[in-house]
Amino acid sequence: MDAITQAAGQLAERIEALGQVTDTPGALTRTFLSPANLAAAAMVSRWMEELGMTVEHDAGGTIRGILAGTAGDLPPLLLGSHLDTVIDAGKYDGALGVLTALAALQVTGPLPFPVHVLGFSDEEGVRFHATYLGSRACVGQLGTEAMEIRDFAGVSLAEALGKEGWNEGATRFSYEDSACLAYVELHIEQGRVLEELGEAVCGVSAICGQSRLAVGLIGQADHAGTTPMEIRRDALAGAAACILAAERCGRSDPLLVATVGKLDLRPGASNAIPGEVKFTLDFRHPDDACRERLLGELLAEFEAIAADRGLKLAWDLVQANPAVPCDPGLTERLLDAIELVTGGRRLLPSGAGHDAVMMATAMPVAMVFVRCRDGLSHHPDEYASPDDMAAGLRVLVGFLQDISKS
Ligand SMILES: [Zn+2]
Repeated sequence: MDAITQAAGQLAERIEALGQVTDTPGALTRTFLSPANLAAAAMVSRWMEELGMTVEHDAGGTIRGILAGTAGDLPPLLLGSHLDTVIDAGKYDGALGVLTALAALQVTGPLPFPVHVLGFSDEEGVRFHATYLGSRACVGQLGTEAMEIRDFAGVSLAEALGKEGWNEGATRFSYEDSACLAYVELHIEQGRVLEELGEAVCGVSAICGQSRLAVGLIGQADHAGTTPMEIRRDALAGAAACILAAERCGRSDPLLVATVGKLDLRPGASNAIPGEVKFTLDFRHPDDACRERLLGELLAEFEAIAADRGLKLAWDLVQANPAVPCDPGLTERLLDAIELVTGGRRLLPSGAGHDAVMMATAMPVAMVFVRCRDGLSHHPDEYASPDDMAAGLRVLVGFLQDISKS
């Protein structure tokens, strides 16, 4: 058995073992700093030590294993992903990136440059309703304001960290102040595109930028029996036209996704014409200029729909995150490694956010996606086959060997 096949077998076993570490027997849940999250970090720390790595804890709960380089004082390469999960999660989201990094180093052994493998303490944001807490802490983006956010039990982030002894003065990884080669993250795709294409792995062009809007339409609530159709100002019928316009807009560009996921209406009675509707709009594209242009066009269409129906339109931009492009040079090297495994050089945008978003504030980033069955994620049936995990491992090993030569 060759070294990669052996490491791939161990990787599959470790995914299963880590998937058993949960706060809720019978379902996988590991939220920020929960007993299971800490136990998972301890388990992965032991595997890091077996590889000869030095293991440390960051004051934000993230662990890192450092494999020293063989060629003197070079900037480190960072690999990894997150160890927390959503509630009733799958075993692969996050964990696969951390464990594939360890499996790859098991195959390659020490490289010329140091390698840091990171297991972030929080990406999903379940406990504090704030995402990327682990990676934010590592790049100095966790300000004093964030320390005051509280979980459902009223415990502040500062108190939760203090309980673990991670007060001021505790080790901080401070990647914002250190020169690093790059951060490279392997993750399950969490979508169905690779499955549709019949491909096991691909590179990632960018993590999509996102606009979130709250949209309101005000018409006139009236009696459903006595108000003739032609004089109605039905806010829900107007919202329906807007939602179909958003769907058409989303279909007009293959890289755009537009979703209305939540809708509230008043008065909300079977015999009343809806007078007021509020709905959300989630709008994502890997290119910020395209996202802004298409969103502008869609909002103009909303205006026209509202005017045509005698409705008052109001919208609020609740959140806007710019796209995070992956480093073109590194991505080419990843595609070289992917081509050797799949024969193709597939590149997809990521519609979902990842720790790479935060790490990109301090260094170049690149990502690899591994196919997952039915595109299912954040669900107990989440699954990546042993062959697909092995393909991801081969890509990472090939990439590491390639960049070690230059
Ligand atoms: Zn994830």
